Amino acid sequence: MISTLHHPILVETCRFLPIQYPHYRCGVCWRKYKSQKNLNQHQRYECQKEPQFCCPYCQYKAKHKFNLNKHLKRIHV
Ligand SMILES: [Zn+2]
Ligand SMILES: [Zn+2]
Repeated sequence: MISTLHHPILVETCRFLPIQYPHYRCGVCWRKYKSQKNLNQHQRYECQKEPQFCCPYCQYKAKHKFNLNKHLKRIHV
């Protein structure tokens, strides 16, 4: 007997709607990500987190180091 009831929903979605890519949702803030890796990164560094990188020259705080670097280059040259 072949049962179709136990196919994962994701696979069914892909078959009928080929444009949609599988996505990963953060259960806390409902942001969507294309890959598990991006979601993990979001949850580790962004979701419900206070900005961790503080500008030594002003009140600016960034969640990512590259954002702080961008700020430093733009504002405190
Ligand atoms: Zn989140
Ligand atoms: Zn600054």
